[in-house]
Amino acid sequence: MAMNVQPISTMSERINEIRALTAEIVNKEILPHENLLWAWRTNPSVTEDDRNEAKALREGIKTKVKQAGLWAPHLPTEYGGAGLDFLELAYMNEVLAYAIGAASLFGVVAPNSGNQTLLVKYGTEEQKRTWLLPLIEGKLESGFSMTEPDVAGSDPRSLRTTARRDGEEWVINGHKWFTSNGKRADFFIVMCRTEDPDGPADSNGRMTQIIVPRTTPGVNILRGINVWGVESDHCEIVYEDVRVPVANQLGSRGTGHQAAQDRLGAGRVYHCMNSIGQMWRAFDLMVERARVREVHGGLLQTKQFIQGFIADSYIDIQAARLMTIHCAEKMENEADPRTDISAIKVFVPAAYERVVDRAIQVWGAAGVSGDLPLYAMYQGARTLRLADGPDEVHRILIAKNILAQFSRGTGWDFGN
Ligand SMILES: Cc1cc2nc3c(=O)[nH]c(=O)nc-3n(C[C@H](O)[C@H](O)[C@H](O)COP(=O)(O)OP(=O)(O)OC[C@H]3O[C@@H](n4cnc5c(N)ncnc54)[C@H](O)[C@@H]3O)c2cc1C
Repeated sequence: MAMNVQPISTMSERINEIRALTAEIVNKEILPHENLLWAWRTNPSVTEDDRNEAKALREGIKTKVKQAGLWAPHLPTEYGGAGLDFLELAYMNEVLAYAIGAASLFGVVAPNSGNQTLLVKYGTEEQKRTWLLPLIEGKLESGFSMTEPDVAGSDPRSLRTTARRDGEEWVINGHKWFTSNGKRADFFIVMCRTEDPDGPADSNGRMTQIIVPRTTPGVNILRGINVWGVESDHCEIVYEDVRVPVANQLGSRGTGHQAAQDRLGAGRVYHCMNSIGQMWRAFDLMVERARVREVHGGLLQTKQFIQGFIADSYIDIQAARLMTIHCAEKMENEADPRTDISAIKVFVPAAYERVVDRAIQVWGAAGVSGDLPLYAMYQGARTLRLADGPDEVHRILIAKNILAQFSRGTGWDFGN
């Protein structure tokens, strides 16, 4: 079924245009070929002809995306992107996410896209020439290496990987894991605790991001970690006396934590809009199936349990979407969005999980099969409750902000 995307009366003409153009490509070019486009990933028996056909299809879609002016929507136009502003991108994401894998056909591939945004903001001209431009052109791949197995990823202040200044080089030592895209990456942006006796004292021991080419001696990729029972490209990496030029430091010393927050803040709104697009798809699949599947002498849509699933899913999607849009508008208006970012980061993945869970139930065994995108959505929704800050950490932040407001003598203003 095609995604039903109509103009939103309160939105700008540009946002409506972006949504309509995106929906047209998703509906006409991607959904009808969804099973062929990505079959090689899950089906080892696809033929060489199928692979070639899928590749040609993907390239054709990318050309149409470029013609529609939607390529790399996260990047400014001077870097070949569509130059969308924050709200435009947020609204585009929910449409894009309706078809699994569509984002990559629009030039948005994690973690490359996040790294591109970091390099645009913090990179020197030389770093942009060496790393950013080839990354945008698809000539290089990248990873973001922050989380470590021995300390809590949800408390980035505890990270142990160090970079010690030695002349004109940084010497990096540390143990990371879950570095996504690790097998293919040509370079990693590595979060390090910098130690520089000659540098500003207050930045010593603080986090700095450093670009590390994969081929540097001492970069040991131990394994692709098995995730959900399948070997993945989320890699465990030991950095052992890895020497890179000081010029590979990204941004000024001690700004690594801020840069990571920049990456995550807006990213959480985009992730939530993505989740909403996927919930929308799961919802459509559920309702479609309920309309045609007959059980015990009647269509599923006539059974009150199933009507309850439909109603509860509608409520979950609307609540998740309105919370996320409220948060995005606060960010756009430069109001303080921190409580709302944490609230959507807790609520949306959980709502997403509930909606997909119901859709799977309605589809029965087919719901967990590779014939439908629901199983991957279910795993994705569950994983999102850990990544980008686990639920508990965000709940603590929400409570902290609310209690601080009360201690200043005023209650919470839900009207803003
Ligand atoms: C598929 C996938 C891809 C990833 N990709 C990347 C990547 O590319 N680069 C990268 O650097 N990292 C990546 N990560 C890692 C991810 O960012 C971390 O898993 C996340 O930050 C949580 O850290 P942790 O796993 O160390 O859990 P921990 O910090 O050990 O937390 C474990 C649990 O403890 C509980 N907890 C934590 N703090 C509190 C608290 N204050 N109070 C109560 N309970 C608490 C929560 O329930 C939490 O889930 C990825 C993870 C996954 C699953």
